[in-house]
Order: sequence, then structure tokens, then C-alpha cells
Amino acid sequence: MIVLDHLPVIPMRITSKYGKRKIGILGATINHKGIDLGNNRSVLDTPIFSVSSGKVSNNYWNDYRGWVVIIDHGTYKTLYQHLKQQSPIKKGEKVVAGQQIGLMGNSSDKTKLSVKTHLHFELIINGLQVDPQPYLEKVKRVEDMTREEVIAIVREILNGSENLPSPWAKKHWENSIADGIVTGAGPKKYATKEEVAAMIQLSKAKSDG
Ligand SMILES: [Zn+2]
Repeated sequence: MIVLDHLPVIPMRITSKYGKRKIGILGATINHKGIDLGNNRSVLDTPIFSVSSGKVSNNYWNDYRGWVVIIDHGTYKTLYQHLKQQSPIKKGEKVVAGQQIGLMGNSSDKTKLSVKTHLHFELIINGLQVDPQPYLEKVKRVEDMTREEVIAIVREILNGSENLPSPWAKKHWENSIADGIVTGAGPKKYATKEEVAAMIQLSKAKSDG
């Protein structure tokens, strides 16, 4: 069973599901082999995150897909398309779960396909695209965690300290901005719970090596 560790976009807002969809008034259908996710309306540019650790297996331009990144996670791959610009993460580089791999955009050759800003995300198992929605819905979000579970993760990072000192939060907040994990552009510059979770997960992934 494949378990994804992070959402590709936070918050996750599905704008088009996987599967057959009608196009045009004649009722023609196309098979949508991924899921479309809308932007985070509280920031100028919506970051896109790797859903699990892996290695970038492709980073390229396609006239229909625009800027694309494909990450190989070993037993499956994930694909992210229409990025605003080419991902800075090169083919062959490793990524951790929750690492920012690019910004949401609407790239494609506009003479061939004009799209609104969104992420088209595909989950590829044994070379075939499957519906990613059930897997994305199982991603554990911070609001799904109990207070004890969150504290357990934080304690692990703090090597057993009982306290949650603000310098710790401040340091990780600054590191995460430096690493491009959050933009700091939320209301009043506060981190959302999900952003804090992303920071914790990244810190954890880094400390796990
Ligand atoms: Zn799509």
C-alpha cells in the first residue's frame, strides 16, 4: 500500500477529478489522468511540494504540459505539471517529503492549450496513472493529529526537551523560509497549522537524513 507523506498543495482544493470528463456542448469526453488542484488564495504564488521522498527523474518542457517535474519514489512516481517556471531541482537530485519543488502556474504553449493556474498532479504506479485522490485524502494533516502526536514529533526534534520554547519555533520558521518551504505571506505573517506541520516534517526528514 502506497502512503504519501505530504500534500502537493496546501490547502488541497480539488478543481477537477481524475477520470472521464465532458468537454464542450456535444458531450465529447476526455480521460483526465490526474487530478487538478487550485491555488492557495492567501499567497501570491502557491508552492508545490513533493508528496514523498524520492529523486527527480525528469524536469522538462512540453507544449501541452508546460513545465513538468517527475519524481521517482521507488515503487511509484508522481508528476507535477503547468509549473510557473522550470523547477530549480535538477534531474537526479534527491528530494524529501514536503520539500518545495516549484510554484504553481499555468505554463503550456498557449497556441496549443490555454489553462488557468492550477497543478495537474498524477500518481503513476507500474507505469499507469491511477486516481490519486484516495491517496491524497489519507495524507495525515496536522489537524488529524492529536496534540500528543504533534508534541511527540516536536520532542523528537528537540531531543526530548519538555518545553516548546519560542526560539525553537523562530529558528525553524526562519530556516523554512530560507529553504523556500513557506513564503511567510500568510495573514499577519503567521504560520498556518499546515505550514508548521510542513516545517516539522521537513526538519524531521532532515534529521532522519
Ligand atoms: Zn489536469
